[in-house]
Formats: sequence, structure tokens, C-alpha cells
Amino acid sequence: MISINLIFSIMMKSIIIHNRIRCRKCRDVIESETVHDFRFCSCGACAVDGGKNYLRRCGYPEDWEDCSEVKWLRSETEK
Ligand SMILES: [Zn+2]
Repeated sequence: MISINLIFSIMMKSIIIHNRIRCRKCRDVIESETVHDFRFCSCGACAVDGGKNYLRRCGYPEDWEDCSEVKWLRSETEK
């Protein structure tokens, strides 16, 4: 199984459109497009993973800003 540190655990109630962050040190915007698409920025201060399944971030929160797009689902429409 996958052992991960989830800062944001957004599952079930949302659809991830873009899973991405911007590094405040090197200004890179990095995006994880698939579940195991683990990407570091060019300076290595932060990373994203999880693709459209979950939002995983690595690095100090002050080193990056979130640029993700997430569409929330209403609970009344769930099956
Ligand atoms: Zn960086």
C-alpha cells in the first residue's frame, strides 16, 4: 500500500482538475498529471504528486503556493 504524508486529503467530494504548485524560490510551476507522477521543481525545494487522485505536497509550506484547480461536488449529488 501507499504510505504518504497528506497535507491535503481531498477525495470523494471533489474532482482535481489541475494538481499543481508554484515554487517561491525558483518560480517553477510544477504539475502532477497522474497518480505516480512525482515532480520536483528545479531547485528541489518542493514537489507535487497524486495527479488527479489526491493532492500531495512535499517541502515547507512557506516555500510554495498552491495553484491547483479543484471542483467541489455537492453532497446531494453523490451516489
Ligand atoms: Zn523551486
